[in-house]
Amino acid sequence: MTDKTLPDFPRATVLGYPRIGRRRELKRALESYWAGTTTADALERTSHDLRLATVRRLVELGLDPDTGAVPNSFSRYDQVLDVTATLGAVPARFRRGKGSPAEPATSESVSPDTYFALARGTAEQPPLELTKWFDTNYHYLVPEIGPETPIGFADDRIVREFVDAARPADGGTAVVTRPVIVGPVTYLLLSKPEDGAPEGFSPLSRLDDVVAAYRELLAALAAAGAPWVQLDEPALVSDLIGVPFATVSDAVRQAYGTLTAPAPGEGRPQILVAAPFGDLRRASGDRLELLAGTGVEAIAVDLVRGTAPSSVPGLASKTLVAGVIDGHNIWRADLAARLDALESLREVTGAGAVTVGTSTSLLHVPHDVDDEPRLDPALAGWLAFADQKVGEVVTLARGLSEGRGAVEPQLAAATAALTGRAGAAGVVVPDVRDRLARLSDADFARAAYADRAAAQLTRLNLPPLPTTTIGSFPQTTEIRTTRAAWTRGDLPDADYEARIREEIARVVALQEELGLDVLVHGEPERNDMVQYFAERLAGFATTVHGWVQSYGSRCVRPPILWGDVSRPEPITVPWATYAASLTDKPVKGMLTGPVTILAWSFVRDDQPLADTANQVALALRDEVADLEAAGIAIVQVDEAALRELLPLDAGAQPAYLDWSVRSFRLTTSGAAPFTQIHTHLCYSEFGDIVGAIDDLDADVTSVEAARSRMEIVPGLASAGYARGIGPGVWDIHSPRVPSDGEVSDLLKLAVAEIDPRLVWVNPDCGLKTRGYEETKASLANLVAAAREVRASL
Ligand code: GLN
Ligand code: ZN
Repeated sequence: MTDKTLPDFPRATVLGYPRIGRRRELKRALESYWAGTTTADALERTSHDLRLATVRRLVELGLDPDTGAVPNSFSRYDQVLDVTATLGAVPARFRRGKGSPAEPATSESVSPDTYFALARGTAEQPPLELTKWFDTNYHYLVPEIGPETPIGFADDRIVREFVDAARPADGGTAVVTRPVIVGPVTYLLLSKPEDGAPEGFSPLSRLDDVVAAYRELLAALAAAGAPWVQLDEPALVSDLIGVPFATVSDAVRQAYGTLTAPAPGEGRPQILVAAPFGDLRRASGDRLELLAGTGVEAIAVDLVRGTAPSSVPGLASKTLVAGVIDGHNIWRADLAARLDALESLREVTGAGAVTVGTSTSLLHVPHDVDDEPRLDPALAGWLAFADQKVGEVVTLARGLSEGRGAVEPQLAAATAALTGRAGAAGVVVPDVRDRLARLSDADFARAAYADRAAAQLTRLNLPPLPTTTIGSFPQTTEIRTTRAAWTRGDLPDADYEARIREEIARVVALQEELGLDVLVHGEPERNDMVQYFAERLAGFATTVHGWVQSYGSRCVRPPILWGDVSRPEPITVPWATYAASLTDKPVKGMLTGPVTILAWSFVRDDQPLADTANQVALALRDEVADLEAAGIAIVQVDEAALRELLPLDAGAQPAYLDWSVRSFRLTTSGAAPFTQIHTHLCYSEFGDIVGAIDDLDADVTSVEAARSRMEIVPGLASAGYARGIGPGVWDIHSPRVPSDGEVSDLLKLAVAEIDPRLVWVNPDCGLKTRGYEETKASLANLVAAAREVRASL
């Protein structure tokens, strides 16, 4: 039992807050620590200052300082890695020399060196694998758990961070925070078996050990005075986790049964379980009923993705934290409508109490709209970044407890902003709408593949196993500085263009020298594969400080897709045609596809994604037509993020795959049969979407495959995939140069399963993050390997 005197769940909260800092202070602190120019102490001080500044900011914005309303969701690098560190669950490959096989390692506290070694790798060891966090663009570090991995309550950083804020040494405002920790079930469901674990070993089999450690952690937090703790269990909403729901429910019952019944003499904080990113009430099993059946005191539900729950047994004794403010997107909310929903929620669900929250952590949005002086003021008025969202939550909580009258001006302001947005110029552009309305099935279909293949064979005259790259060449410091100078206005357009042309000429010459068959221009003009297009299409805006953490110190600045999309003028044609003028080999035009543009932007929420995707597709379709008219024989439309947007809810997947595939086809199907359409997909586990890849109807598809040693090839072969395919033969995620023998071994695996006439030879992905030295060596080996295998056909 918990202490009866602990405070009720506060009326307003957010599930988490950005941690990189308003000016990316953490990024700079991390990078100088890694570079060796500052000490571990300095990094610790910056983290401490950022944490305190954040929790105090949240109090300023209206969250209660005394009852656990303020989340303590800071991390130096990643919240999943933080659990690994708390448990001391360091995989054996990072523990060389410690312990002996006879004496299993015990979990011990993790030094900053080990923490960052896990995150970034060492000279001997690659880092833990990075993977997307549910359907966000955030990446976590995958724990490696085996039967012998040490697991205990090894590190009390989470407790110290609580104490730091509650009893600050600087004498400033004290804040009783709510520590936010990835829950034990999600932690293990996201883990992979450690190398050398027995066949069939499941990390979930270590649940008892993990839960025992969490129990100690909770006891320590209770002793330090924490009234509430938040355990994030997003794995509960995902059908992509690879484990049947029955297994997940057993794990939840077991974990929360133990955690809610502390050991004799020990206390625990009250527990909030948060299950963001989806609907808890699902055909495959009701997750809300499952949680309501445990002894936890509060449950946070995502009501942006999920539906308003109906009456749930067991909820009467609990607080329902209603996630009505979107933590995943940046639009100002319809507060009046949200308040209506909140007002009925208590009756509908039978919850003991309803409080107001965000649907997810605010980690996925930038800090503050008021920090964007260059945004059009009307557009800025439609937006809510993290700080504005805290304000919305606080307003709704006040309206809920004091009555509508208390917040009437705020409700009216939100309604006015929404009305203004709906009627603003550019939001609805009749020409764009008309063009969309006139589309027919014919606009989504090309000529039969056999006819296209024949026309392309004659036109391109390529050898078997043609070699190519995915598009970008290394972005040198010079290129980056040149672009920065031009963006600042310090370099005239003409000089900038001349500089980019020089770079293109260099890259084309290099490819000819290496003997590649299909060349690219190298993308030196692109800051980012999505932002570059967003800056050149109508309907998008970009920010100055709107950074969102992608992983570790890496941040992205997603563009804002706010209006109907159109293309004022050709975007890539001058660069592609310039490259083509320098060589007799075919040059691929290079575009980013509609689904990827949507996935890596903040997208308008006032119309179906399918419509927005088709608007982007039509703009790109015109670009394809212009490239074709300029004589470009091959156009690649990258859909790096096709798999990333796949809904976590299996029930929602067919509709997603339908509109995403259609938008790709709309982009590409205006191309004549003799124009070869390529696509590139950026991931290796795509078993779930092999059918969709086929439906894209691209002439050639390149995919990541090197690390998994062509694992995808048999799947494609058995699915009857019968168009061009370029399984990546060089893992570009590391600077390692593959030998020609290695590449030809991979190629032989491919041609053994797939008709060699369909196989292309290319790296896993673009080369922009690589250096020239390894690029030249690796591409030379790739070309040599292709020639060798070609000769053996
Ligand atoms: N054409 C892009 C490049 O080469 C593709 C990048 C990606 O797939 N992420 O950089
Ligand atoms: Zn890629």
